[in-house]
Amino acid sequence: MIDTKKRIVVLLGPPGAGKGTQAAYIKERFHIPHISTGEILRDNIDKGTPLGIEANKFMHKGDLVPDDLVFDMLKDRVQQNDCAHGALLDGFPRNDDQAEMFFNMEYVSTNAKVSAILIDIPDEEVIKRLSNRRYCPSCKSIYNLIHKVPKKKVGNAFICDNCGTELIIRDDDKVETIKNRLKVFHNTAGPLIDYFNKKNVLYKVSGMTSLEDVFKQIVKILE
Ligand code: AMP
Repeated sequence: MIDTKKRIVVLLGPPGAGKGTQAAYIKERFHIPHISTGEILRDNIDKGTPLGIEANKFMHKGDLVPDDLVFDMLKDRVQQNDCAHGALLDGFPRNDDQAEMFFNMEYVSTNAKVSAILIDIPDEEVIKRLSNRRYCPSCKSIYNLIHKVPKKKVGNAFICDNCGTELIIRDDDKVETIKNRLKVFHNTAGPLIDYFNKKNVLYKVSGMTSLEDVFKQIVKILE
């Protein structure tokens, strides 16, 4: 029998665990759209929408944006056609209240197979990775000055391999903000992880190996 269930993959893990990179691999291999709530929010900030203006009051400090704002935004996004066969969620749900909202959504409760993948890395590694992260404000590519170094540098500025734009450090990748994001992660992740565990859909992978190896671990879980 052909399995017609939607495939919903939730990526969990601290900021800097490599969720964005793995998301790009998963999207290509399993043909599901990558939905990053952080990315949608940043897009709204860049465009100066009412949602962006409200969200930025929380985001620039590394705090979570209120649940209802993020939830409405996500509900709209998964109603789009490209999500008909599933979706890869990166950054949502973020706490146990959002997890409850997630499991109660019709999109998730009807004809879907959910797998939550936790990519595990220690705090020191998070700080090291994020403070070395550079971001392309134009095509949104992400680089790392330790293991994904952009090829071109002009003066002190690194240039995007993909589109030639000057790379920047995201506001929320500044060291003080990273420390607050980690604090927020530790305050909310435990209950969130428990929630997925109780639903029997939680899988853990180590984020301390190579990007390729992390992906191999994920493929084994999803296939
Ligand atoms: P991320 O790119 O996933 O690390 O998210 C960047 C920032 O966006 C977070 O620090 C939060 O301020 C905000 N954000 C992203 N997703 C959520 C969410 N599900 N709930 C609340 N805030 C979020």
